[in-house]
Amino acid sequence: MTRTLAALIASHGEDTPAIGAPGRDWLTFGGLRQLSADVAAQLRGFGIGATDRVAIVLPNGPDMAATFVTIAQAAVTAPLNPAYQQAEYSFYLEDLRARALVVLDGYDGPALAAATPLNMAILRLHADPAAPAGTFRLTGPAAATPAPATLPGPDDTALILHTSGTTSRPKIVPLTQANIAASAQNILTSLALTPTDRCLNVMPLFHIHGLIAAVSASLAAGASVACAPGFDALKFFSQMAEVKPTWYTAVPTMHQAILSRAARNAEVIAANPLRFLRSSSASLPAQVMLELAATFNAPVIEAYGMTEATHQMACNPLPPRAQKPGSVGIAAGPLLRIAHEVEDKLIDGTGEVVISGPNVTPGYEGNPEANRKNFFMADGLRWFRTGDQGALDDEGYLRLTGRLKEIINRGGEKISPLEVDGILLDHPAIQQVVAFAMPHPKLGEEVAAAVVLREGQTATEREIRDFCATRMADFKVPRRVVILDEIPKGATGKLQRIGLAEKLGLAPA
Ligand code: ATP
Ligand code: MG
Repeated sequence: MTRTLAALIASHGEDTPAIGAPGRDWLTFGGLRQLSADVAAQLRGFGIGATDRVAIVLPNGPDMAATFVTIAQAAVTAPLNPAYQQAEYSFYLEDLRARALVVLDGYDGPALAAATPLNMAILRLHADPAAPAGTFRLTGPAAATPAPATLPGPDDTALILHTSGTTSRPKIVPLTQANIAASAQNILTSLALTPTDRCLNVMPLFHIHGLIAAVSASLAAGASVACAPGFDALKFFSQMAEVKPTWYTAVPTMHQAILSRAARNAEVIAANPLRFLRSSSASLPAQVMLELAATFNAPVIEAYGMTEATHQMACNPLPPRAQKPGSVGIAAGPLLRIAHEVEDKLIDGTGEVVISGPNVTPGYEGNPEANRKNFFMADGLRWFRTGDQGALDDEGYLRLTGRLKEIINRGGEKISPLEVDGILLDHPAIQQVVAFAMPHPKLGEEVAAAVVLREGQTATEREIRDFCATRMADFKVPRRVVILDEIPKGATGKLQRIGLAEKLGLAPA
């Protein structure tokens, strides 16, 4: 079993394309291996060795992908969101105990201001726009003594990420070389990736989804990944026409934005058949899945992932096996079971989803309380609590009912916001919806929903509530429905239910 990032990319053809970008030449696997050796030598010269932490603040794209892949073979990478402000960088850089910060040559932004008082080495990335995508060299202060040439082993940390912060303050998750290798191989197996596959990456590369599903799984398969400079629904189809991907992976809000531009790009879609589309990181409503499959005339593979699992936990199988709309698929890597939500035991029926396997983080950093709460032993294995609620059907398909923290508790009556979303999406005028809890003086919580209407459609709060009243029990009907132009999203494109009532200034009508 391959257990390091270096081993994942060791054997692919010298001239096989690895990393690319719209409008750029391809960096081959031979080129990537040479770049990895060069970067390792440069890092040693800066005094940075296998266990030193290197924060990376770069715009999305091939340089960011290549920086992660090369530095993670020689040291510990910690990519940070390039949209943070100085105070956020100060917090994260200190929290991470970063030894160095990689920024673009010429960068003079808030990450630099935050790093300066922390006495970190500032490494400048010089990219060559005429060279293949992702080719770069680092400059920085030379160390008095170079770091030893020891390479990281399988159990060394390779990547430190923060969770998306959907339900609480982001948690620091260290992931090892072996975690990454296991997860990349799980994903390439689920998707049957081969060197003829090409992914168009639109996911941010400071988040687990893009780093592992798009970049690491592709490279592990000897396949190629073209890295767009971030997600832009207006540019998606021209990028697709240019790089000719066989697949892409995204969060549901991105798929919805792509769908809203699909009709006027029917020619591009017809000229570039996809082998499949992949969705993960948030719930894909069944309606959106069916519309995507019909629009692209390709199977839509929904997967279930999280930072702590180095992304993938479950995945719908490829045809000819069935993809079940509304289900996140079958265990795809780690063992996956249901546990009692309070007691440390495995159960049948509905409960908290728990996982165990080589792709699961050894534990949160600097957070013993979260580790005590989230890991437990049962049947001789160490299980991790995902915080998600769900149940397995007879065929082992997992259906999620929501995040435990997001379940709406209406005077003791538990309501799944995902169920309310699904019903509202059957309304012909509704394009996007997020149900959430709003405070109620007597019940504690009451159901509310925010919706975005389809272009050119109209509906009123009253009509939408009447629509719900004929399709769900009265206690689940949202007491308030707010019609918005856009629903607020987190940095990784996820809809955020928690805190939405406050953000929208909602109280029961
Ligand atoms: P935080 O842990 O900071 O609150 P987060 O959980 O959103 O943030 P991530 O690790 O990016 O951070 O996301 C993992 C979560 O995303 C899962 O626990 C699950 O709730 C949700 N998720 C991922 N894939 C799916 C899916 N296919 N369907 C429904 N939910 C999903
Ligand atoms: Mg989480």
